[in-house]
Amino acid sequence: MPPLVDPIPSGVLFETDTQTPDLGLAKDVTVLKKATPKKHEYVWFNIFWFLYLHLASLYGIYLVFTSAKWQTNVFAFAVHLMCAIGIGAGSHRLWTHRSFKARTPLRILLMIWQTMGFQDCIFEWARDHRTHHKYADTDADPHNAERGLFFSHMGWLCCKKSPEVIEGGRRIDLSDLYADPVVMFQKKHYMKMMPLLCFVLPTIIPVYFWDETWTNAFFIPTILRYTIGINVVWSINSFAHTFGYRPYDKSLNPRDNIGTWMICVEGFHNYHHTFPWDYRATEYPLYNMLTPTIMFIDAMAMIGQAYDLKSVSPDIIKQRSQRTGDGTHYLWGWDDPEFTEKLKEKYGRIDSPEEKKTL
Ligand SMILES: [Zn+2]
Ligand SMILES: [Zn+2]
Repeated sequence: MPPLVDPIPSGVLFETDTQTPDLGLAKDVTVLKKATPKKHEYVWFNIFWFLYLHLASLYGIYLVFTSAKWQTNVFAFAVHLMCAIGIGAGSHRLWTHRSFKARTPLRILLMIWQTMGFQDCIFEWARDHRTHHKYADTDADPHNAERGLFFSHMGWLCCKKSPEVIEGGRRIDLSDLYADPVVMFQKKHYMKMMPLLCFVLPTIIPVYFWDETWTNAFFIPTILRYTIGINVVWSINSFAHTFGYRPYDKSLNPRDNIGTWMICVEGFHNYHHTFPWDYRATEYPLYNMLTPTIMFIDAMAMIGQAYDLKSVSPDIIKQRSQRTGDGTHYLWGWDDPEFTEKLKEKYGRIDSPEEKKTL
């Protein structure tokens, strides 16, 4: 049976997808952005689960300040950090974007930490995230930001995937994931490993090792830590696609926002969608040094566990920013004297009458 829908790529995934010398697509992607009105089919189990998690987390916050041992709070933060690195460095930068390579011990460690974060197995996470980049802000984007802040934050997980999203996912090449035994092992045993790593162990460890109460151990390092973890990742899909500047490509919804960075330690999303195969969060070394995921990849590279780290050259970044950026780049913005009127004419692209008015 032929596919019911025909999604058109609106973004790049790998260098091989690029069509211009400054690593973009040779088409105006603003016209592809859309959110066709839809009747969503709700997944009630997820809705009640998220409701429970957020209410229980409020109790968790109360316990943090009233009765938890300091070891429990430190432990909760450490588990959160491990999950963030498992997802940020593992399922995101290694397995979705192939922005570096990792030796087997590191891949196993990242797989364990990624399982602890319970945001689907690596295989599904990477497939959905590749679909998000390739069909960003269209009907085939799993968390299409054109459908609003709530949908892109958590609403998309409260309803069934649309045929466009399913078809988009089907068109993504996943052969590298099928070929990775660590990814396949996790996929096969996910439902046995995940409850143990995400819920059981973080509850038992504080009770066993420092005599914490079962209530504190359950609500702080388990429920509260997990709820914060999912909200951090969701915020990148929602806030980082809605608020901020677009110094690299103004035709994309994803934005750079220092506020999102301060909450998620990952907020240079316009940079990330412009150059998704770059292992760094941003071109700015200071922010990379302050980003645990990037520090972790750098540290692993030092001991030889990570290698072939990919990054985009400053020249390309400059060219791209001048051609498609919104003029807010601190160096290569429209006020930069090096960016002459002639260059502005050559590289400037005004996509919509609305944007034309604001310039
Ligand atoms: Zn995004
Ligand atoms: Zn990404």
